[in-house]
Amino acid sequence: MTVADAVHGFTETGHHWEAAQALRQADPLVADLLSAESERRADSLQLLAGENLTSPAVLAALGGPLIDKYAEGYPGHRHHTGCAPADTVELLAVDRARALFTAPHANVQPRSATSAMLAAYAALLRPGDVVLSMSLQHGGHLSAGSRANFSGRWFEFVGYGVREQDGLIDLDQVRALARTHRPKAIIAGGISHPRHLDWAGFREIADEVGAYLVASAAQTIGLVAAGAAPSPVPYADVTVAATHKLLRGPRGGLLLCTSDLADRIDRAVFPFTQGGAAMNEVAGKAVALLEAGTPEFATYIGRAVDGARSLAQSLAESGARPLTGGTDTHLVTADISAFGLSGAEAERRCAAVGLMLGKCALPFDPAPPSEASGVRLGTGASAAQGMGQAELAEVGALIGQVLEHGADARIRGRVQELARSFAGRR
Ligand SMILES: *Cc1c(COP(=O)(O)O)cnc(C)c1O
Repeated sequence: MTVADAVHGFTETGHHWEAAQALRQADPLVADLLSAESERRADSLQLLAGENLTSPAVLAALGGPLIDKYAEGYPGHRHHTGCAPADTVELLAVDRARALFTAPHANVQPRSATSAMLAAYAALLRPGDVVLSMSLQHGGHLSAGSRANFSGRWFEFVGYGVREQDGLIDLDQVRALARTHRPKAIIAGGISHPRHLDWAGFREIADEVGAYLVASAAQTIGLVAAGAAPSPVPYADVTVAATHKLLRGPRGGLLLCTSDLADRIDRAVFPFTQGGAAMNEVAGKAVALLEAGTPEFATYIGRAVDGARSLAQSLAESGARPLTGGTDTHLVTADISAFGLSGAEAERRCAAVGLMLGKCALPFDPAPPSEASGVRLGTGASAAQGMGQAELAEVGALIGQVLEHGADARIRGRVQELARSFAGRR
């Protein structure tokens, strides 16, 4: 492996080679740690739901000269001079986001999905307002009401959940809670629910009680880009997305909203919740949004969804219980309590053979969240590397074997073989 491979995980131009050499010379310790991370990644299968492999073109944009540019404000209205290329890049990213998602307005400046969520709240709510959201135990994100997060501290959250018998969202419950609590906003979407959401159903409830509808679509926006999931954009007042998950862009957030809310959303990002945007990330988002419109991207998303279905099926055959019986998306959430293990123990056992997945608290989980009774997996990174249904079905079977019999050298060897044969591909 070259130094450039070690640092960036892919063979790149002279620019990257020089950058890698500069790092090795200036700070061999960090250079070694990055090599170790590349090695770790090449030697294991990345199944954490929020992770992916950033596209090589996006990586190049991230390392480009806009990293040094201060450009507070918005194109044409900057607080800094010298913003001509930065302006054009941001306009390009915004136009591409609007076109890809048929959105009246886009803001590409949030540094993360959480900070995009903060801006959405800032645009729509006042502290103390009531918000109806998927409860955290049932798959809501921390930014949708956790007491450890600004959201739970500053707003009054009421949680809806899924039905115990089938794991699906019960819109009648959502409607009843909305009528009782009269929320100012309803949040739909989360981190672990594997099924498509009924956006029109949520919209109807929001309209009935005069609430804003916020789509928390960080996990699923890549599916929407490829037409593999129903789009929240025509229904939600604000759609909150991440660019680093299925979209394979830079770590960051993205906001889509109606024309009416455009100014409020923009002001809620800058200057209310952020200073200058990271213009290299904005450039990376522009590239990712271009790539997300290509046939290759649709093929990769197809692999992710088909692969997740195969993974869920083989986990079920191994004795795990996929929530809702399967998946419509790249996510699989499974109850593994039949193996007599906690989710935390399952995570440790799988990691020991290089299967990197995450423990997950389940709806109605009797175990404390630190232990949990489930695991959550995503197929974004494996699909980006070219894995398909056959490989993911095998991964499901390997997970089943580890949970049933414990880690052993044969399974570790097979995981390494699989990982190595797809490593280096992005
Ligand atoms: C990943 C995720 C987030 C947080 O994203 P960050 O960029 O890490 O802040 C928020 N909401 C949902 C639904 C997510 O899946």
